[in-house]
Amino acid sequence: MSEPARVDPVPALSDKARSLDIEHRATDRRDAFVLPEGVIYLDGNSLGALSVAAREAASDAVTRQWGEQLITAWNESAWWTAPERVGDRIAGLVGAPAGSVVVGDSTTVSLYKAVHAAARLRPGRTVVLTDPDSFPTDVHVTRGVCDQLGLTLELVAPDDAVIRLEGSDDVVLASYSHVDYRTGALWDLAAITAAAHTAGALACWDLCHSAGVVEVGLADGGADFAVGCGYKYLSGGPGAPAFLFVAPEHLAGFTNPILGWNGHATPFAMSPDHVPAEGITRARVGTPPVLGIATLEGALTAYDGLEVVDVRRRSLSLTGFFVECLDVLGVDLPVVTPRSEARGSQVSLRHPDAYAVVQALIARGVIGDFRESDIVRLGFAPLYLSHEDALAAAIHLHAVVTGREFERDEFRSRATVT
Ligand SMILES: *Cc1c(COP(=O)(O)O)cnc(C)c1O
Repeated sequence: MSEPARVDPVPALSDKARSLDIEHRATDRRDAFVLPEGVIYLDGNSLGALSVAAREAASDAVTRQWGEQLITAWNESAWWTAPERVGDRIAGLVGAPAGSVVVGDSTTVSLYKAVHAAARLRPGRTVVLTDPDSFPTDVHVTRGVCDQLGLTLELVAPDDAVIRLEGSDDVVLASYSHVDYRTGALWDLAAITAAAHTAGALACWDLCHSAGVVEVGLADGGADFAVGCGYKYLSGGPGAPAFLFVAPEHLAGFTNPILGWNGHATPFAMSPDHVPAEGITRARVGTPPVLGIATLEGALTAYDGLEVVDVRRRSLSLTGFFVECLDVLGVDLPVVTPRSEARGSQVSLRHPDAYAVVQALIARGVIGDFRESDIVRLGFAPLYLSHEDALAAAIHLHAVVTGREFERDEFRSRATVT
């Protein structure tokens, strides 16, 4: 008896990748980005790739605006109003109305402001809920506010938040990530927000891993506060300013815990008394990071002419196809990202040598990242990745695992930033 011929699965997957790329070509913005040759970049969820427009915006802000306009650029190039202007552009991506989003500080600082302001809106209540598995800065900053205000931080997984809220009257705020940074699980913003409201509490959402790739629907979901990153899928560059959303109905009662001159009604009156500005401007603190905001504003033009619903469809197709490739190729690492549509734009896998697997992938030109303790995290920034990239990445991962490349010494020593 002869062996049955082994069917090579790759040609069929290649055909499928090509046809999916044709189906999704309306959302292909690869040409707007400057990625190095030979790299498949699966880390746009950690540091989004550089776009041509971001590079031009950064260069223009430095060379022409700063270099030539000097201090007049605050007016001539509308630097002063950039936090609200760029906030409005992001509002359009996360389903928030104009005038409800401002950019400027880091996510950590923005969350501090949101949690603190929420507590002021619910005096007498004592408990703040957050996810023990959140990105640590979210837990730290929330705990810090609780300590400062004499509140209790209760660590409750998002899955249990609705039950915790039901029938309760002690909760100030439910503060959760929309997408889990490690597993990629997408939580139900509308359901948790509704449960918070029924219990008289508020809801704050961290959109770091959903802004720009998931239809967030802040207004439809009734969210009270939200924060998110500028340097992940939005591709605003390293250290790009974050954004803060305050629902319009809370703006009049929003107390900024960091009173600065940028949040003042008349900053140039130079008055020692603090009168908060109207609207989202009161959430500002000090002089905004102009160069970072300019770069982010350039980056956001990648979304011009696109609807997030279509970007989301492309994202689900990319991650779904990648998992299908792993299945067909027989890469049998546990996939921790939900196979249902309750996922963000990443695929996370478990491997006992996850760090070395990621290093071996990087050596092959496939850049992903490692997250403690055993997660290989691969982000699919939809605007500049194709289904052909997804297939190529799966083939490389298959080779790393079956060839046990992760056992090589050179892939085992840890750098500062993992
Ligand atoms: C990336 C990320 C942050 C980063 O916060 P910084 O203040 O920008 O350092 C915070 N929270 C979550 C959930 C993140 O994914």
